[in-house]
Amino acid sequence: MTHHQGLILISENGTLYSVLTPKEGVSVDTILGNHLKHQLGDSILIATHNEGKVKEFRRMFQKIGISVESLNDYPELPEVEETGVTFEEDARLKAETTASLTGQMVLADDSGLKVDILGGMPGVWSARFSGPDATDEKNNLKLLHELAMVFELKDRKALFHTCLVVAAPHRESLVVEADWEGYIGFDAKGSNGFGYDPLFLVGETGRTSAELTADEKNKISHRGQAVKKLMEVFPSWQQKQSL
Ligand code: IMP
Repeated sequence: MTHHQGLILISENGTLYSVLTPKEGVSVDTILGNHLKHQLGDSILIATHNEGKVKEFRRMFQKIGISVESLNDYPELPEVEETGVTFEEDARLKAETTASLTGQMVLADDSGLKVDILGGMPGVWSARFSGPDATDEKNNLKLLHELAMVFELKDRKALFHTCLVVAAPHRESLVVEADWEGYIGFDAKGSNGFGYDPLFLVGETGRTSAELTADEKNKISHRGQAVKKLMEVFPSWQQKQSL
């Protein structure tokens, strides 16, 4: 039996069997110090260089008292190659590799467009659909070309998909996903957003997502929905992981 910072520790041969606290209790920090803080995770690293995404995630995590860093704060980290064949595999690769390299809690996202009649293409290859020197414009032109013989809008069904993965060293990752359904239009319309937004007709509205404001898009988009889901399940995941 030994005394430590007001606690009575019952141990034998280096194994702790019981801890007795005084009636008035002791501060948790006294026992676990920064270790607990680290376990609970008071900051999260977003595995992206895209400051727009970082800003979006920072706004949400601030609400639950978690500060946000990005890969721009870790210039020495190597780029993680996205070699997965599903959105979840690529998001896991980025989140879990970065978590084990840094020892931090890490969030990664992976998104893309799936077109029904193209068997789900471009999918995880959305960013590089038109080749190694792809740009948004070239990708959109290639998509229009692929659908040139599909004359009915009802046959041009598509969806945007997002997968978010939160990883931490030696923990089971948290995965959430969301879809946003629509159709691929016959020509590009609108100048907001990025990627395939000028071709993506939002449901039956006749408007493309490039014709929505950022706020309108965030409320209904695949990423907006996935982030909402994440905020619902993240606090209990975080708590469970730190027990
Ligand atoms: P990321 O994984 O979020 O970087 O997305 C990969 C690619 O999917 C982007 O380069 C875009 O081509 C496409 N994409 C993902 N989300 C959107 C979106 O909200 N609008 C338009 N294109 C998107």
